[in-house]
Amino acid sequence: HNDCYEYPKTPKEMDWSVHYPNRPGLKVSIVDVGCGFGGLTVALSPLFPDKGVLGMEIRVKVCEFVRLRVEALRRENPGQYQNVSSLRTNSMLLLPHFLERHQLEKMFFCFPDPHFKAKNHRRRIISVPLLTEYAFYLRPGGLLYMITDVEELHQWHVEKAEAHPCFEAVPRGEAEKDPAVKAMTEVTEEGKKVARMGGDKYWAVFRRIPDEDVP
Ligand code: SAM
Repeated sequence: HNDCYEYPKTPKEMDWSVHYPNRPGLKVSIVDVGCGFGGLTVALSPLFPDKGVLGMEIRVKVCEFVRLRVEALRRENPGQYQNVSSLRTNSMLLLPHFLERHQLEKMFFCFPDPHFKAKNHRRRIISVPLLTEYAFYLRPGGLLYMITDVEELHQWHVEKAEAHPCFEAVPRGEAEKDPAVKAMTEVTEEGKKVARMGGDKYWAVFRRIPDEDVP
């Protein structure tokens, strides 16, 4: 990861037209953090055709794979997939350069690296300080989606989000009707691998509480 990251000084300077050249004025409002090979990222595009969808990935080659995947989808489906793109970045460090307050409607965290050892828990992509940051980007009523095949990590996700004053759990019955939940559980590459191996998947959805209701 030692090559240079390119990023704007502030999100105001971010030129999204590079990502969505045929959708002038479109900004990102749905992010897939650590998108990997982008199965969910591309599936979100037709589900939310009016929203800017962005997969964020730290591995250069994997991100390039998603870029080519989107390019091919655009070529093969004229007029479609114009609202989806990928960005190579370290989302644990650089989100403030790309995202403004209340810009996002949805954030996905699918099968993040579990960092099992206690001394590495601080590297987890879900933590109380990072949830505070995510709450800044999510608009009131915005949704945070988390899925993993590691039960212990799922408990960590739920515990951190439940303890956070800016989030409340979306009731199971309500979340089950959300097409984004269906996509998140079925179409990521990691999720498909887990299914092939007969493993379990654990997920949760949390809502960003409006600021005036935060205790
Ligand atoms: N979400 C995908 C899926 O479900 O198929 C990929 C899951 S994979 C186990 C975790 C991904 O997160 C990897 O592709 C990894 O490179 C990426 N990743 C890890 N740390 C990251 C970071 N700080 N910023 C962006 N991506 C990161």
